[in-house]
Amino acid sequence: MTEPAPSQPSRATPFYCPYCGDEDLRPEENGAWLCSSCRRVFSVRFIGLQIPEVTR
Ligand SMILES: [Zn+2]
Repeated sequence: MTEPAPSQPSRATPFYCPYCGDEDLRPEENGAWLCSSCRRVFSVRFIGLQIPEVTR
């Protein structure tokens, strides 16, 4: 039996708080992140890739 990874695949990992720029982020419920500096809770959602068209 292989245990599935207990992860939330939709959770993106921010490296900096988008509001104050602090790096001390703590995971919260529902894929959210808490900035321990400004106490804001936010989530990061991956929309897609913007691939530039190559026109020749
Ligand atoms: Zn912050």
